[in-house]
Amino acid sequence: MPCNLCHHTVAETLPFHYLWRGKRFEGQRCTCCGLIWLDPLPTEAELATLYDEDYFADGLHGLDRIGSDYEKWADSTRDSARTFLRREIRSRHPAARALYEIGAAMGHFLAAAREDGFTTGGIEISATAVEKARQKFGLKIQCGNIEIADLATAAGSWDVVYAGDVFEHLRDPSGVIARIDTLLAPGGLVVIRVPGTFNLLATRLAVPLLKLAGREKQLPDNPYHLYEYTGTTIRRMLERRFEHVEVIQQATPPQRLSRKTGSLDYWVKIMLQAVNYPLTSVTNRFGDRMTVYARKPSDPDRT
Ligand SMILES: [Zn+2]
Repeated sequence: MPCNLCHHTVAETLPFHYLWRGKRFEGQRCTCCGLIWLDPLPTEAELATLYDEDYFADGLHGLDRIGSDYEKWADSTRDSARTFLRREIRSRHPAARALYEIGAAMGHFLAAAREDGFTTGGIEISATAVEKARQKFGLKIQCGNIEIADLATAAGSWDVVYAGDVFEHLRDPSGVIARIDTLLAPGGLVVIRVPGTFNLLATRLAVPLLKLAGREKQLPDNPYHLYEYTGTTIRRMLERRFEHVEVIQQATPPQRLSRKTGSLDYWVKIMLQAVNYPLTSVTNRFGDRMTVYARKPSDPDRT
């Protein structure tokens, strides 16, 4: 499979995999641009199974293991969503009036945007979540897959397109970048948030060490993350269509790392994160969360 970012056809196998319903999904990294993906990618049918109602009801990335669920967690994000909208989105695009969310889940972020004066729209793959957003917030969200849905009625009408924790789940992230370009009005702002598991110092050290030792790590989650990004690869993906690309990296403070991924690893992670956290604050590298902002050019005649 050619690289989704640079179309290079040579990839190295990474020492990690997922096992789901007896099928192995191996980590691969493009030897040219460094983009990481699963080989094979889950099929459309497998994705439909992965995102059926139990994705939000239980087990979402192991939230159940720390005694929480998606709705409880999302309810607690109201204030941070408001702050993010005002400080980060409005400050970059003060004239913005209409905001579209890809992967709107139960509508918590769109509800905060509406409170802040935005006209809102969005799309979400989980029918259960779409129904919840309707009941809980009175929001009308299109139920569908951003990679194939008909977006004709929404094209060109949005000042901001936001995709939080979506790009790691896509089968064709470069294709969705093109779809975002279609959704945005000229001069519009795209805001993407992704986890940076393979951008972290701990992971960057672990990959060559595991390879050297001839060992493989089986990741505990389901194969939800089809792609993994670093600051470099997510920037490059945005630069293909947009301008003024900013990548802001954050590292979780060591005391706030969750126990989701298990016991022994947890303490090793804490120690490495004690180094990683200040390093990211100073260098804007090695973050485990990345927020990317970019603008669609205003000139409609661009090539
Ligand atoms: Zn590549």
